[in-house]
Amino acid sequence: MADSKIKSASAASIAEAAKLLADGQLVGVPTETVYGLAADATNPAAVRKIFQAKGRPANNPLIMHVESALAARRWVRVDDPEWLADQWQRAATFWPGPLTVVVPRSGDVVDEVTAGAPTVAVRVPSHPVMRSLLAACDFPIAAPSANPSNYVSPTSAEHVRQGLGDKVAMILDGGECQCGLESTIIRLQSDGVELLRPGSISVEQLQAAFGAVIAARVTEKNTAAADAPSTNPPAAMPAPGMLAKHYSPTKPLRVVGSWQPEEIEPARVARISFAPLPRSEAASFGWYRSLSETGDLHEVARNLFTAIRQADATPCEWIVIDRCDRTGIGRAIMDRIDRASG
Ligand code: AMP
Ligand code: MG
Repeated sequence: MADSKIKSASAASIAEAAKLLADGQLVGVPTETVYGLAADATNPAAVRKIFQAKGRPANNPLIMHVESALAARRWVRVDDPEWLADQWQRAATFWPGPLTVVVPRSGDVVDEVTAGAPTVAVRVPSHPVMRSLLAACDFPIAAPSANPSNYVSPTSAEHVRQGLGDKVAMILDGGECQCGLESTIIRLQSDGVELLRPGSISVEQLQAAFGAVIAARVTEKNTAAADAPSTNPPAAMPAPGMLAKHYSPTKPLRVVGSWQPEEIEPARVARISFAPLPRSEAASFGWYRSLSETGDLHEVARNLFTAIRQADATPCEWIVIDRCDRTGIGRAIMDRIDRASG
């Protein structure tokens, strides 16, 4: 039975969501990447509710969603040096869209959003429902993915209900997410950008826009912070998007090739392929789903998290999934699969 907290997006439900947010409540919201757990980013108590609801470590900062690059100006410091103003201009060419940019913050940003960091992560989403919601709010929206910390991100309103239904005042249903993977996150640098998290804006696109793309450094501290919610957090993580274990299903997940049929019986395997497998092979598995009729990687990305959730809900003991080249969106797909199998 559909939960009454899920409301189809309409002018009335969007206005209601804006009011709930203004009242300091949490709302599940659709974006083109994944569903977000939204709060008024200017209300510290509301932002703290996000961390509580998700069980998110207090030192893992949130993304601030704004209506436009212009609306972001109040929350960031990008006027100088000149290279920063220039890189900001380039970043804005990807908006609205699935690119999150980490830049120095202004004094108006509340500490709860950035986990005390001197930087803030901002994004202008393209989902029409989220855009209407932002237009209806006179504040930016802080929103991480709307899943309990460390579980797979939600790509439908129903996923949000399953994970956090009792923690939100309402879930705005804007349909299935178009990208299906979390946003690409970059930090602007004088000679290019640092990639904090790959996403559907590819490294190739970033290279074309910014020049050099430097890989983020993963530190010991990042990994430790993933597992241990702390009440007395240290400084914000330098590249928190890079937590080694993240997005995990409850069942062990293996990539094809790192799994041998003689090791685990196919009947105990939930098998996810990127394109259809031969019928006889597909039939040997306990459960099977192909993510795309043609192996199109954008379609694979869109369906990936739903399929992992479905596989996780079967009686099978293992999940085995295809792999692809780490180019274009393939890089983000393999990044999420690595973390899910970590
Ligand atoms: P989520 O919305 O759940 O995908 O989480 C937001 C991501 O943005 C997390 O990986 C955060 O660690 C990352 N993030 C947010 N703010 C910052 C920041 N100031 N510096 C680096 N990463 C950030
Ligand atoms: Mg998340």
